[in-house]
Amino acid sequence: MSEQCAMKQIPVIKHVRAFTLRGGGADYHDQADGHWIDDHIATPMSKYPAYRQSRRSFGINVLGTLVVEVEDSAGNVGFAVTTGGEPAAFIVEHHLARFVEGARVCDIERIWDQMYHGTLFYGRKGLVLNAISGVDLALWDLLGKVRQEPVYQLLGGAVRDELQFYATGARPDLAREMGFIGGKMPLHHGPAEGEDGLQKNLALLASMRERVGPDFWLMVDCWMSLDLNYAIRLAQAAQQYGLKWIEEALPPDDYWGYAALRQQLPPGMLCTTGEHEATRWGFRMLLEMGCCDIIQPDVGWCGGITELLKISALADAHQALVIPHGSSVYSYHFVATRHNSPFAEFLMMAPQADQVVPMFSPQLLHEPVPENGRMPVSRLDRPGFGVELNPACALHRPYLHTPGG
Ligand SMILES: [Mg+2]
Repeated sequence: MSEQCAMKQIPVIKHVRAFTLRGGGADYHDQADGHWIDDHIATPMSKYPAYRQSRRSFGINVLGTLVVEVEDSAGNVGFAVTTGGEPAAFIVEHHLARFVEGARVCDIERIWDQMYHGTLFYGRKGLVLNAISGVDLALWDLLGKVRQEPVYQLLGGAVRDELQFYATGARPDLAREMGFIGGKMPLHHGPAEGEDGLQKNLALLASMRERVGPDFWLMVDCWMSLDLNYAIRLAQAAQQYGLKWIEEALPPDDYWGYAALRQQLPPGMLCTTGEHEATRWGFRMLLEMGCCDIIQPDVGWCGGITELLKISALADAHQALVIPHGSSVYSYHFVATRHNSPFAEFLMMAPQADQVVPMFSPQLLHEPVPENGRMPVSRLDRPGFGVELNPACALHRPYLHTPGG
């Protein structure tokens, strides 16, 4: 038998389908009333009093979840969830599918390159990269299922036996009791709320430091809401509360502001950002301009695993850590394989941040969660990303295309 004949036959991708889904999950902001994630959190829209109390009021959940399915000629189906909803479903069905259908399931690098360059005239970031990420993650899931290996093994294998997590939510004090290595809470008041708001922000940090004790990591997430002057004042005043990092203090296009902020942070306090950044070129700006110590790409927004590998290598050469934003299993399979990703984020999606629930619940089955702030890598030992779509969730397919057409 020749060497070529001994090679495993690689299936061809036959169908790409895009669905939308409402209510929590990958679009984790799509929650009901009373959830900590929508409780007067400071945003760039906080300067308008009408949009200050709720992020849903300005449309943070307007897109909903995107589900991408890819099916090969052998009947294997890979899938992924991210945000982007109906407009991303249009892009997947009517634009990206042409680069996927007819390709072999291993042609991930070429497909990514074609999806990115084929959308360059209207893409580059944001919604289009959500859609590209969704397709890319579905392709990695499919490849893992075809090869019967977890994605982290396809990426080169784990560099440690377990993952450790910090928790994001309103209750770092409870996160500490649950075994997490740190807690990150949202900032509630932006610059438009003046000196009074600044003092309220500092009072909450003071009281949380009191509750978690001196050694627990305590961080604050500003969700792009501040200006440079306010961010510096907040960071300097918060130094006494042992703030480990200040996250996404400024709008993502203000690379110059981030570079200045990082220079003026108190000693030991880290500057982090990047959850709304995308591709190697966006992160190159953050890294080469010295904007941050930790980059936080969202795996479902930055371009998927294929692009994250490039972003991560770039970060490593700049001595920056890569701690993906949220992203559930898509983060875990990546973080396990990288030395410069020594821990992971866990979003506390229980409405009061008082218990550990699967991050993308209810959309995924078999979604692993940390126990005592940790997760053995062996929990990821299922083909692909190791999760399934919950059949109880009602999928809607708003656009249909003819495969190959
Ligand atoms: Mg954040």
